[in-house]
Amino acid sequence: MPSDIKPQVFTLTSLNGVRRRQDLGQAGVEDMIQLSDLNEASLLWNLKIRYDKELIYTYTGSILVAVNPYKMFDIYGLDMVKKYEGQILGTLPPHLFAIGSSAYGHMSKDGSSPESQVVVISGESGSGKTESTKLVMQYLAAVNKSPSNLITEQILEASPLLESFGNAKTVRNDNSSRFGKYLEVHFKDGVIIGAKITEYLLEKSRIVTQAADERNYHVFYEMLQGLTSETKEKYGLLSADKYFYLNQGGNCEIDGKFDGEDFQSLLSAMQVLGFTSEEQDTIFRILASVLHLGNVYFHRKQLKHGQEGVEIGSDAEIRWTAHLLHLSPDGIKRALTTKTTEARNERVVTPLSIDQALDARDAFAKALYNALFSWLVSRINQIVCKGTKHTAAISILDIFGFEDFKENSFEQLCINYANENLQFYFNKHIFKLEQQEYTKEKIEWQTINYTDNLPVIHLIAKKPVGILHLLDDESNFPKATDLSFLEKCHYNHALDELYSRPRMSSMEFAVKHYAGQVWYSVDGFLDKNRDTLRQDVVDLLISSKILMVSKMFQRVRSSHETAKTINKANGRFVTMKPRTPTVAARFHDSLQQLLESMSKCNPWFVRCIKPNSDKAPMKFDMPIVLEQLRYTGMLETIRIRKMGYPVRLRFSQFVERFRYLLPQRVGGLTTRGTPYRELCRVILSSCCPEAETNGDYQLGTTKVFLREWLERELERERARV
Ligand code: ATP
Ligand code: MG
Repeated sequence: MPSDIKPQVFTLTSLNGVRRRQDLGQAGVEDMIQLSDLNEASLLWNLKIRYDKELIYTYTGSILVAVNPYKMFDIYGLDMVKKYEGQILGTLPPHLFAIGSSAYGHMSKDGSSPESQVVVISGESGSGKTESTKLVMQYLAAVNKSPSNLITEQILEASPLLESFGNAKTVRNDNSSRFGKYLEVHFKDGVIIGAKITEYLLEKSRIVTQAADERNYHVFYEMLQGLTSETKEKYGLLSADKYFYLNQGGNCEIDGKFDGEDFQSLLSAMQVLGFTSEEQDTIFRILASVLHLGNVYFHRKQLKHGQEGVEIGSDAEIRWTAHLLHLSPDGIKRALTTKTTEARNERVVTPLSIDQALDARDAFAKALYNALFSWLVSRINQIVCKGTKHTAAISILDIFGFEDFKENSFEQLCINYANENLQFYFNKHIFKLEQQEYTKEKIEWQTINYTDNLPVIHLIAKKPVGILHLLDDESNFPKATDLSFLEKCHYNHALDELYSRPRMSSMEFAVKHYAGQVWYSVDGFLDKNRDTLRQDVVDLLISSKILMVSKMFQRVRSSHETAKTINKANGRFVTMKPRTPTVAARFHDSLQQLLESMSKCNPWFVRCIKPNSDKAPMKFDMPIVLEQLRYTGMLETIRIRKMGYPVRLRFSQFVERFRYLLPQRVGGLTTRGTPYRELCRVILSSCCPEAETNGDYQLGTTKVFLREWLERELERERARV
């Protein structure tokens, strides 16, 4: 927490606190655009008053602000689903289901062709995005016209299943998503007919290392708690504390999480999704192999000709891995102690040093787990994505939240870069497109300024010298090191005010993100970005007698395949130097694709707020909340929603929808020849005369612009006639 925040808050609270409490009433205001006195103190107090009354949701127009209660309230039952079903947003108290209901309603709006919707859930790590995602999904499942079909149940079960494999305890969040997820739910005539999941960048380093107080992926601990002792014996498994890959955080348990029970839920999720018992067995074999590999250790060994190599400390783990994956034990030993390369059609075997052998072991384990995770996602998609033609979709985006740990690495840079993109998407929709439209339609308007984060996105990713591009250049250059990469960053960005170099000569750089400055330690950046898996290791895994394992790595090989092109000069095939896209390049491309598909949808925003840093229930820490309100641009958002006209309808659309509100004496007589724009004016001034004086609507050159409350009023009126 930057030190400049606290004093300001105390001034605000001591000066304005009492008055504001009275102004805001007992339960605050439900929609922050109703705040008459718009400033940081009033919106902070409003959220606090509501939170203390256990009202965790508040609107800013149609944007939902959700403050994490860290405690389950009984507000997500079927009764609530029914209550919110079909209701116009804003007519009932703020709730996540109202967002679900609006997305569903807009998708299947009568008359017009269905439009795809996206619910964009953002917030820092631990603010409640994943919980919100599941609740929106639950709402859609309950409200769709065929709620009890198998496909809906399968989509619901996919979430906890992927959580087991892709979530872990971090110091910020006991159930932190370590991958991004875009869940697209397909509808036909209001009925869920399928879904598609896209995953983004699973954090691989966690499979082999965890910081103090953190854990590896949940599934390992769940499996060790939940399997019967006979089955554990079959896989050669012991308790979690015996595994180097599981015990580095110092505590294999999480308060309030029951790994054994969660394992049973995992099994039943696999059942519902139709995983065969063979597939389940292979999954556990892979997980067990990862754990066995982690316990492999090495001794230094003197080889012939004075060369130094390593030998494996004990054979047991190798034998278990070989047995479980149906591989040759000698093949595994060779892969962990030597490196085989091909030069001029000759195989050259070089012994590894201790450090290289440990790296080889970790790379092996990471490759296994990562391939398993990708397999899971594509298997789930095979089951839930039927390829049936859908008419529209509601997508929900739940990515890893913004992070700033004591030590930040390549993973955090990618995570924070993704969050920058999300913030940019939000700004674009809320501020940029909106104000452009006002100018185009010649609406009277006073420009609202907001903090544009495009410069940070450029610093990280713009060609040719954005940090990720420098990293890619260095990654393709065999002699480069983490230090040479850092020097290039310093050289190119030293003058950028969003970039900082360390005072001492430590291996770090800092980026000023929209959510605060983060220092990144470059140690391991190049290796993580290259992420090369040795060809001999891939070949070894392809040789597995378990078809599922072999196929997983055939897929890996085809993505690494050497590109062959025809040499124009002599028409012969020549082998080009293989250039597997780097992690950064792939991540960047997948983010662009994501933004592209989101841009085709109508967005709904949920802004999750983390109320304290202790994961404590119902504790509202003012400075922590204020910081989030500031960096998400909440004040400006309220201002633009208050002054702006979020509802726009083409004149003809408006007249079609509200023609019944035309006063009698005008209806019939003048509709025919009268221009649509004039009809709109007549409808509005007869229904809501005060709206005109207050500037609650404006007529542009082609569209009617309305404040949200006015649309609600008109809809209510329409329902009455
Ligand atoms: P990350 O970016 O690390 O994945 P996140 O934003 O997805 O974080 P969640 O995992 O959804 O955060 O929430 C963290 C914890 O907060 C949950 O495990 C749960 O205990 C609590 N929580 C979140 N939302 C709610 C809610 N609506 N009701 C009750 N508890 C909640
Ligand atoms: Mg999450």
